[in-house]
Amino acid sequence: MHIIHPINDFLFELFPKAKAAGKDLEVLRQEAEDFYTVGSFKPTISIIHDIVDITIEGELIEQNASLFKLAAALCDGHRFEEAKTRLEPLLKEAPHISEYHRILGQILSGQGEQDKAINSLLDALRWDPKNEKAIIKIGNILIRHQHNTEAAMKYYEYALQHKQDDVAVLTRIGLNLIQYGWDDVARHYLDRAFEINPAYPNMYYAFALIAESEHNYKEMFELSVVALFKNPCRDQLYRQSLKLVINAANEIIDPEVGGDIVNAFAEKLEGECGKKIVVEEDASLKTGTKIEFAENYERNYHLLKYNPGYTAVHHLIMHELAHLLFASRARAAGTNKLFVRNDELHRKFLDALEKDAQKHSKKGFYEAVIRQYFTALFDELNSQIYNTPIDLFIEDYLFQNYPDLMPYQFLSLYSLIDEGFKATPDEKIMSVAPPSILTKSNIYNLVSALHFLKRYGVDLIEKHNPTKQETIYAEKFYNEYVECRGSYTPGDEYKLVQKWALNMHLQNYFSLVNETDYREHSDLLECLCATEHVDMPDSCAAPQANAKMQLITEEHKSKDINMAVTRFMVEALRYFKTLTAADINAIAIEIALLVQAGISLEKVGYTVKQIAGKAFSGYQLLAYYYVSWAQAFPEQLADLQLQFEKEYEFALEMVE
Ligand SMILES: [Zn+2]
Repeated sequence: MHIIHPINDFLFELFPKAKAAGKDLEVLRQEAEDFYTVGSFKPTISIIHDIVDITIEGELIEQNASLFKLAAALCDGHRFEEAKTRLEPLLKEAPHISEYHRILGQILSGQGEQDKAINSLLDALRWDPKNEKAIIKIGNILIRHQHNTEAAMKYYEYALQHKQDDVAVLTRIGLNLIQYGWDDVARHYLDRAFEINPAYPNMYYAFALIAESEHNYKEMFELSVVALFKNPCRDQLYRQSLKLVINAANEIIDPEVGGDIVNAFAEKLEGECGKKIVVEEDASLKTGTKIEFAENYERNYHLLKYNPGYTAVHHLIMHELAHLLFASRARAAGTNKLFVRNDELHRKFLDALEKDAQKHSKKGFYEAVIRQYFTALFDELNSQIYNTPIDLFIEDYLFQNYPDLMPYQFLSLYSLIDEGFKATPDEKIMSVAPPSILTKSNIYNLVSALHFLKRYGVDLIEKHNPTKQETIYAEKFYNEYVECRGSYTPGDEYKLVQKWALNMHLQNYFSLVNETDYREHSDLLECLCATEHVDMPDSCAAPQANAKMQLITEEHKSKDINMAVTRFMVEALRYFKTLTAADINAIAIEIALLVQAGISLEKVGYTVKQIAGKAFSGYQLLAYYYVSWAQAFPEQLADLQLQFEKEYEFALEMVE
C-alpha cells in the first residue's frame, strides 16, 4: 500500500503532534510511523521534496464490498446503531480502509458525537488524503454544529485541491451550505461551478433553492425548470426539481395577475376578431372552461365561461381564447374549418365496434351499457382527434407570447395530465374498451406528453405505459408538428388533424368542412365540436335495470322517503363535489357495470375502483349509482328505473 501526502497545512491538521511541534518533520515522521503500523506491518516512510511517501509492505485485507455496502445503507437510513455494529468488525479487520472511517464518522455525527466524528473523518483522510466526501463532511460538521464557516471553508478548499474543476464537488459544497443557511458562501462555489460547466443540472437546483429562500419565486420557477431540462436521469434530483417547480408555480399564481393577463389578451383578440368577448365566472361548470363562439350561437359576442375552482384556471381561459384567435386568423385567410360529427358518423363508429359489443354482451354486460360506454369513447376520441394537434400550436403560442402565464400553464397542464391518469378506467372497464381505440387514444396522449416534456422537461411519458409502436407513432406525429410549425400559415393545424386521423384510420368518424361552405348549407350537418368540450348526445340509451332490481324498486315505491338512501346520496353529492366531470362519468359507468353484474341490497363490501379505499353496501352503491348518473347523464336517469326522485331531491336540499 502506498500513500502520498503533500506537505502543507492540511497535512498538519492530520498530524496534530507535528503541528504542535512547530511543523517539525522528524516529529511528523515518528507520528506517521506510529499511525501507519498495521498489525505486524511496519511502514517505510520517506520525506523528500515537500512530499511524505508512506509504503506498507505485505498483503493487506481488501475492502469487504458487500458488508460495507450494508453498513453504509443502514447509516443512510439513520439506523446508526445497527450500522455501527456492522462496521466495527470491518474496521478491526482492515483499519487501513479510508471509507470505513468515513462511514463511522457519518454514524457518529448522526448520533450527535461531533468531536469523535471529526476524529474518525480525519482517520479516513490519513488513509486517503483525497477522500473528498470525508473532507466535505468535516466542513459540514464545522458549519452546522460549530458554526465555524471560516474553518469549514478551509476544508472545502482542501477538497477542491485535487479537483479544482470538479463541478460535482463544487455543487455538493454549495448544496451543503444552502442546507445550513449559508446562501452567500454557497453562491461563491456555485458561481465557480457555473463557469466551468453551465450544463450541470444539480447546480440549477441549488440556485433554485437559493431563490426560494430569497422568496424570489419567479427565478426559483425558471431555475428549477432548467434543472429538469438539463437532467436526463429520472433520479432523486429530478423528483426534487419537479417538487420545486410545482411549489414555485403555486407561490406565483394569483387570481388578480391571472385576470390581468386574460384581460390583455381578450382586448387584443377583440380587435383582431372584430367581436366582443365576454368572460363570465360560472362555478357550476363541470369543465374548467367553456367557450361559445358567436357564430354558433347567433350572438354578436363570444362567451367564455370558467369555473374558478380549477387549478390555474387562467391558463384554461387563455387556452380557449387562443382557440378563438387561431380560428379567427384562419377565417381571415379563408382556411378555417369546422370539425363536424353527426349521428351517421356515430353509428359508423358503433358499427365498427359491433363485434366487441357482442363479445361483451355474451359475457353478461348489457348492450345498452356497452353502447353508453362506447359513445363516451367516441366523444373522447373525437375530442382528441380535433384538439391534440391544435392544442400544440396553442400552447406554444401562449408559451412564447405570454411568459408570465408559464406557471399557470405548467400547473394546469400538469394537473390535467395527472388527472388523466387518475381517471383511467379500472381493469373491468378496460376489458370492455376495444384495444384498437385505446391504443389510438394513447398515441394522442403521448403526443401531448412529448410536448410537455419539450417545454418543461417533465417526463410523463412512462406513466402512459406506451408500447413501442405507440411511441413510434407519437414521435412521428410530434416531428410532423415541429415541421409544420416551422412554416406555419393560418389553418395549417387542420392539415395535421386530418393527417394524423388518416394515419390511424380514424378519418371516418368526423368531417372537417370548410367553414364558408358549412355556413351556407348548415342544415346538412350538425356542428358539434366547434367548442372543445362536447356534451353527451341525446341519442345514447341508459342501461335498463335487471329484473331483480325492478322488484326491489317497485317494493320501494310504496314507501315514504328512504332515509338510508338519502343519507348515502348526501355523502355521494359531497364526494362528487370534489371531482371533475370526467371522474364522475367514469364512476357512473363503473357502477353501472357493477350493478349490471347483479348486486344484493343486504350485502356489504362492494368496491368501486374509482373510489379507492371505500367499501359499499348494496343500498349505498345504488345511491352512488343514482347520483353519479343524475350528474353525468341526467337525460338517461329515468331509464335506470330506480325510483329515488324524492330521495335525490331531498338530498340536494340537504347539501345546499
Ligand atoms: Zn384545446
